[in-house]
Formats: sequence, structure tokens, C-alpha cells
Amino acid sequence: MEEESKYHSGLSFPFYIARSEICVNAAGECIGDGIFAGHDFDAGEHIIAMKRPLVVSLSTERLVDTCANCFAWTEGTSIGSRLYVPEGIKVQTCAGCKRFRYCSKQCQKEAWNRGHKHECKNLRPISNREIPKAVLAAMEILIRQKHGLIRDKDWEMLCRLDTHIDDFKRNGKYAEIELMAMGTSQFSWTQDTFSKDFVAGMYARVLTNSLTLITPTFDPLGIMIDPTLGHINHSCDPNAYIVLDGPEPAIRTLKPINKDEEVYISYIDPTNPYARRQSELKARWSFTCKCTKCQKGATLDEDKWLIRSEKMAQKYKDLADAMIELEDLGDNEANYVGESEDEKRLAAIQWKAFDMYEDEQQTVDPQEAIKKIEDGMRWCYQSGLWPINRQPYAAFRDDIIVNMSSVGNYPIAFAQCAKRYKYILPKLYPEIAHPLRVVQTWQTAMLTLYLASEEGAMGIAQAGVDMSLIAYMLVIEVKFMSRLSHGANSRFAKSVSKKFDEMTAELHAKLGPNAEDLMSNAIPRQRELFMEMGDWLQY
Ligand SMILES: [Zn+2]
Ligand SMILES: [Zn+2]
Ligand SMILES: [Zn+2]
Repeated sequence: MEEESKYHSGLSFPFYIARSEICVNAAGECIGDGIFAGHDFDAGEHIIAMKRPLVVSLSTERLVDTCANCFAWTEGTSIGSRLYVPEGIKVQTCAGCKRFRYCSKQCQKEAWNRGHKHECKNLRPISNREIPKAVLAAMEILIRQKHGLIRDKDWEMLCRLDTHIDDFKRNGKYAEIELMAMGTSQFSWTQDTFSKDFVAGMYARVLTNSLTLITPTFDPLGIMIDPTLGHINHSCDPNAYIVLDGPEPAIRTLKPINKDEEVYISYIDPTNPYARRQSELKARWSFTCKCTKCQKGATLDEDKWLIRSEKMAQKYKDLADAMIELEDLGDNEANYVGESEDEKRLAAIQWKAFDMYEDEQQTVDPQEAIKKIEDGMRWCYQSGLWPINRQPYAAFRDDIIVNMSSVGNYPIAFAQCAKRYKYILPKLYPEIAHPLRVVQTWQTAMLTLYLASEEGAMGIAQAGVDMSLIAYMLVIEVKFMSRLSHGANSRFAKSVSKKFDEMTAELHAKLGPNAEDLMSNAIPRQRELFMEMGDWLQY
């Protein structure tokens, strides 16, 4: 598709922008526009694909190991990202500003022409200062606009995005916005072009309309601001999502969408309980979500407990009482469970779980993180309150897999993957081609494949288990699903296909002329064995 056509709205185009009714402010008024389907879509199709977002800003930690043009994360620890970032790729620092790094001359040239040539000299004198990513993004927007490097249409749409300035004034955060805007003006040398208020508005727009820049396997790299993507509204029951293929963002459908239906993505983790979702959306984007899920309140799976609050063990009631007395839980709106004394205790127990989760998320050292994650998982498990798929119990499990892998404890990481595959993925992501389900299945496949080569030594082999066949079974699943989740031509789907071909060739060489028959007979049994391989874990 030509780039032009991706931006237009109209009958023959895949989407158009119109007034949305989903976002309602405190006064009950509809705010902002939304993106609507221009024709019918099936699940697993793309609605918009573009060459790159308008502006991207890498997080401070990623500036040192990620190309600022094509977003190749060269030191990516994620099992997925190693696959489509060619081996041996390195990034080199821009000699001028010493801030951005590029993986090739070509990438550097593209960034230079897009606007870095005007920005580089401004950044030079402040090369040793840490500048927040939102400020860097706002600077780039102003500099490029000043030099005529943003198309009128994009600029006009960008300026149509809500600034939420009134909300910032109401919640007392406007002074900080003004301060950051002052820095943005100064560092970008654009005081002569844009007024103080305009810059504050643009900075606020960056804060409230930016989306997370991710790798194809959903590792966060920074933020991106794009006038088209910024118009997509939120739902906790989204029918679409954004996926990146290198620098190219696409909106893909999770469910079928009819012509003239609004397209929604989720700004937050939609698997969180109702009160947490509402409180996060209000705090960050100042709106009350009225999506189909939120209309049902705290009645869905995300909000279920294993037992009623009054059945909670006395030990946990006592712990909750102590917490309520000692800790500053605030009004604890995000953990609201109910009005009774036991429900308030339950809220405190949940507060503690999320507090532990946020703490481990901030922990850089994997050994230390593992300790904190295990404490958190034990808290959820031993309280007897958490279903296995309730947050943050499930999120702890994702993190233990990542951290166990990074310290080389592959057998535990694998067992946790098997447990997640069996009990959690189908619950949290019922759509089989949900991109997170696909990516997490891929992570499992690659761990299994690694263990297949080490089988005996790792002490994982048990009677009849063939790890390489289990890995193959998982890769087949991902190969099929990645066409829907990422698109058949995406780098991710292509690298999965490549892996599949390699594994097929290896298995044929190993099993001989009857390989196909042998495999199709063996795989169902291997699948059964795999499904039990996480069951020995206590939590
Ligand atoms: Zn690059
Ligand atoms: Zn530079
Ligand atoms: Zn909602």
C-alpha cells in the first residue's frame, strides 16, 4: 500500500476519523475523535500500516543499545528479539550530539534527513545531561516543524489531539508541565517560533497521546507519537492492537470489526481487575472507561477470587488489619473490593500484592528480582485467594520466566512456561492469535528447543519426553498464528517460518524417510506430556 493512502479517510480507505462516543469526561461529555473501520475486517487483518511513527523517543536505558532509526535492539535479552535482529549488529554513537546511536550509515542518514541535522547541534552542548524521553520527543516535533519537515496534514492532525491541559491544571500537575516545556523550548532553540503556552500544550500532548514503542515481541523500547495512532481510543475489551515490525507500526484486528464500528486498542493491561483499570485510566488519561467490560463492573474473570472474603484465613485477616493500621494505603481506590470489613481486608491484601509487583518491576538485578517475584507469588498462592490467572499473580509468572532465563535457570523457566501455557494463556488471551499469546508461546518454544539440546544434563528428561518434538509442536502453532498476529510478511512471521524450516530439516535427518508419519503419530502424546510439565511447581 502506498503511504499516501494510509493516511486518508474516505469510502475506499480502510479507516476514517470521526467523533467518538467512548471517552467521557467528568462532566459526561464526549471528548475527542476516534478511528472507525472503513469496511468489514476479519480477525487477524491489518487496518493501517505505516512506514514509521511520526516521532519516536527511546527510553534512557535503550539509547545505548538500540538504533534510533530502525529500533533494532542490539543487546536485546529477550529470546524473541535475538531472532530478527541479525547477529553481530552494533550501534555507533552520533559524533555530533553523542546521544543517539545508529546501526548503519543508512540509518544515520535517514535520521539526519528527517530532522536530526537541525537537532544535533542543539543537543551537543547538553550531551552529558539526561533528558526525559518525553522532552526529547517534544523537542524533535518543534524542531522539525520549525524547519518545515512535518507534513501539513500530519501537523494539523497532531494539533487536533487533546492536550488535557485542563485536567493537568485541576490535578495540580500543570506547574511540572510548564517547567518541562521551558526546557523543551530552550534546548530546541525554538522560543522565537512557538509561544510558551503552545509548547506546554505540545508537551502535554506528548505525555497523554504517546504509545509504547515495542519490539515485535512486545519488549518496551520507548515512546512513539503519531497523529493517526494517537486518535485510536481505548477499550479494556479491544478489537485491535498495535504491533511493530522494526520501525513500522501497524494496527491489526483482534476480532472481526464491521464497517463503521470504532477501532479500539487497550492503553493499559486489560487483564487487571476493574477498579485498577478505572483508576489507572483516570490517573493517566483523565477519563472514565465505559467499555463493554467496564459496564459490567467487577463481575468478570479478572475480578474473581478463589474464596469469599469472609472465608479468608485468620492469619491473612490479621496481616490485613496490621497493614491497614500501619501502612499508608491512601484511599486505596485501585484495590477497591467492597464495603464490608472483610472486603476492606481483601483490598489491603491485594494492595500488598501489587505493591510487591511494582517493586520487583523496578529491580534491575535479576537475582534480586527473582527473590521479590517469589515473595509475591507466594503471597498470592499462600493466601488461598488468587485464582492462577488473576493479576498480579499471572504477571509475576511472566517476570519469573524472563528473570530465570536471564540467570540461566532454564528448567524452572520452562516449567513456568508449561504451566502458563496450560492454565493462563487460554484464560487471559482467549483469541488464539492474540499477539501476546503468540509471543509467549514463541518464548516457550525457544526455551524448549534450547533444553532439547541439553536434555540429559539439565535433568529435565523424563520417560518418553522428546523435547525437540515439543519445541517443534509449539513452533508449528506459532508459525500458523503469527500470520494472523503479526502478518505473513512481518519480520517476526518470516523468522518463525525460517526456524520452522530448519527444525523440519533437522527432524527429517534424524528420523529418516518416515519422519512425517513418525512425527504426526508422536506429537499428540508429546503434547499431553508437555501439558503436565509445569504441574509439579507449587506456585
Ligand atoms: Zn538501524
Ligand atoms: Zn547527533
Ligand atoms: Zn474499560
